[in-house]
This record gives sequence, structure tokens and C-alpha cells, in this order.
Amino acid sequence: MIKFNYHSHSFFCDGKNTLEEMAISAIENKMQYFGFSAHSSLPSISNFGLQENEIKNYLDEINRLKEKYKDKIKLFASMEFDYIPSITKDIREKARLYNLDYIICSVHLVESKSGGYWFIDGSKQESYDEGLKEYFNGNIKEGVTAFFQQTISMIENVKPDIVGHFDKIKMHNRDRYFLETDSWYKDLVMATIEAMKKNNSICEVNTRGLYKGRSNDYYPLTAWLKIMAKENIRVTISTDAHKKEEVSSLFLECRNHIKDCGYKEVYYFDGAWKADKL
Ligand SMILES: [Zn+2]
Ligand SMILES: [Zn+2]
Repeated sequence: MIKFNYHSHSFFCDGKNTLEEMAISAIENKMQYFGFSAHSSLPSISNFGLQENEIKNYLDEINRLKEKYKDKIKLFASMEFDYIPSITKDIREKARLYNLDYIICSVHLVESKSGGYWFIDGSKQESYDEGLKEYFNGNIKEGVTAFFQQTISMIENVKPDIVGHFDKIKMHNRDRYFLETDSWYKDLVMATIEAMKKNNSICEVNTRGLYKGRSNDYYPLTAWLKIMAKENIRVTISTDAHKKEEVSSLFLECRNHIKDCGYKEVYYFDGAWKADKL
């Protein structure tokens, strides 16, 4: 069995440890591959990303760690890019410029017609509720539709190496505004799965919501993962660790879960994407 995690955060963005502490924890957790994926910088819109003037330090430190621990683990440089159609037009150029090994793309901020951004992530349910009111007049169907349309546009236009937590919109919903069984919601999910299929995407199965107690299931939901298995959408496992204790949280459980959902293999990256038999 190959152990890996390509989605992690540190002091450079909203994480709670240094890159080196994260790397050491990955080694202690017997991982063969580990990737650093700081939130990309989004000046003037959000404050959870890398600061522009820290990018060089971030990349230099990863290079130092790659070399220092090369006999113990293979480390990778990445970023989790926020995709916002009117703003983030140059994700692939940036990835080349920074010489990243792969990229994750996610939607945390949903662009509204009025030009505002609904923050659907973070620890506070109130900010989800307030943002929905402010940017989508409280119209959940409109807000959720915008989220999935933005996600589909991201999959088609950027073709990320890893599609990040594509149904995170459910996290703060907690069955209050919609049910994941609602047909309009399911249609949006199916359109997203279809886009991943067309673009031969690799989708992460992200354990964070579950181990943080913010969600009752992984991202994506078990029902979607079963459909994805039938559609042969490739998956990898991410813990989206924000501190060293989370480096491998629920990794093994998630691996078994993916198998139970009908998958025969899970994908890992060693410089290229490869299948590990389940
Ligand atoms: Zn994220
Ligand atoms: Zn993340």
C-alpha cells in the first residue's frame, strides 16, 4: 500500500505548523509522498492565502526540505489555487512560473452577478448564511448553482491536476437550505461529474470535513463517489491537513471507503500519476 497526501497547509497560509513540521509528521506517518499546497494569494479578496512577497520563501523552503529529506520521503511543491473566473485567469502560467509539481484547484469564493464573493468555507456557519443573503439575496438555488457552474468552468478551463473538494458547498448547509437528495442539487453534481469525466480529471476524496466534525461524510458524498466509480473518474486521497496531527487523518479509513464504493484503484503521484491497487 502506498501512503500519500498532496493537500496540506502551513504557516505560509492558514495552517498551524511550519512546512518542516508537516514534512516530519508525514515521515512519522510513514508516507512515501507528501505535497505542500498553500492557498494561492488573492490580494484584496481573501486573507487566507500566501502573501505575494512570501511566495519565493515558500518555494525556497520546499526545495530545501526536498533535498534534506530526500532519503526518507518524496516531497512536492504545489498550491491550492482558488478559481474565480473574472480574477484568476493565469493559474497555469503561475504554476509554470513557480515550477510547481502539480496543482489543486478549488472554489472557496463564489462570484455573484453583483461582483461580490460568497465565502462558503471557513469555520463559521454565520459567514455562510450572511454571504448567501448578501450576494444571492438568500436564494440558495442560485448560490449553489453559481458554485457548481464555477467549479465546472474551473475543470474545463484550468484542467487542474487535482479537483479539490467539489461538493464543499454542503459543509455549512447541514440540511438547512437544501437536501443532497433534492433533484436540482443532484443535477448540478451530475453535471460536475460529467465535466470531470470529459476532462479525465483526478478528483480528491477529502477527509477534512469528517475528521473536523464539520460534515457527516467525505467530500464528495458517498452517493456521488459510487457514481464516480461507475464512471471511472480517477480519485486520490487528501486530508487537507492544516496542522501536523492531521497529515494522515482518516487516510486508511478513506482508502477502504473508496474500495467499498466500487473502486479498484486509487491514484498517487510520484512525478507522474499512477494507480495503486486497492
Ligand atoms: Zn480548500
Ligand atoms: Zn485546502
